[in-house]
Amino acid sequence: MKPFTPKLAPWGPPVLLGIPLDHNSSFLRGPAQAPPLIRQAFHSDHWNKTTETHVDLGVPAIFEDAGDLPAMETPDAFTRIEDAIAKIVDAGKRPLSLGGDHSITAPILRAIGKRIPAITLVHFDAHPDLYADYEGNPHSHASPFARIMEEQLVHRLIQIGVRTLNAHQHEQAEKYGVKIFEIKDLPDPTHLNLAGPIYVSFDMDALDPAFAPGVSHWEPGGMTTREAISYIHDLPGPIVGADIVEFNPVHDSTGLTATVAAKILKELLGKMLAT
Ligand code: MN
Ligand code: MN
Repeated sequence: MKPFTPKLAPWGPPVLLGIPLDHNSSFLRGPAQAPPLIRQAFHSDHWNKTTETHVDLGVPAIFEDAGDLPAMETPDAFTRIEDAIAKIVDAGKRPLSLGGDHSITAPILRAIGKRIPAITLVHFDAHPDLYADYEGNPHSHASPFARIMEEQLVHRLIQIGVRTLNAHQHEQAEKYGVKIFEIKDLPDPTHLNLAGPIYVSFDMDALDPAFAPGVSHWEPGGMTTREAISYIHDLPGPIVGADIVEFNPVHDSTGLTATVAAKILKELLGKMLAT
């Protein structure tokens, strides 16, 4: 009989890092308030800490929590994000960041991409976030993947759940060789044919606002929570890092989105530990 608990992978432990930065948001502020609320939902007594893949995240020291980066309103915020992530990777551990808006993924990948070669970046989002700049801001949350691709920080970028592709971002995707799976053409999760080290960037607005209303940019017609978890479960390993971004508590009147973000966090941690 198959053992209930999967064998854990011989990789460094995941390290949670809160990155409360939202000043690169183009429409609404709020994601800076997200990290403590995701942690609170994660640690809530309303559920247990075993993932769907049978990894018990309640085992002491199975992952670490480095807390939140302080004072993200300063001009050196991106440098401090890059330094904090570099420290985790240099210690042989794997960062799992809690945003913050999506702009933080660029400095995160600056640290990881320079240290781990040939990363496949798997990006869940309603938006391609490939603008050369947005309203003059090259660090906008609408632009991190343009920066990541022009700086050649990853081998390959795959986007899943996109439903806002315009002509400019289509051109950008062609220029950088980005593989976009629009929501209307979602492939079976087992058909992605991924290989090598994987980094997962999960924008909460990839999900339909019916499941996750607490985001800045409502874009109906999105993924179900179940579909997103199936993609996470079917990723091959190793997963060298991940982020969960764009949870905006200002739009989360019931607190449901905090729990959905914590659920994605649970399943990502389980996958990171077992693959
Ligand atoms: Mn995004
Ligand atoms: Mn988005």
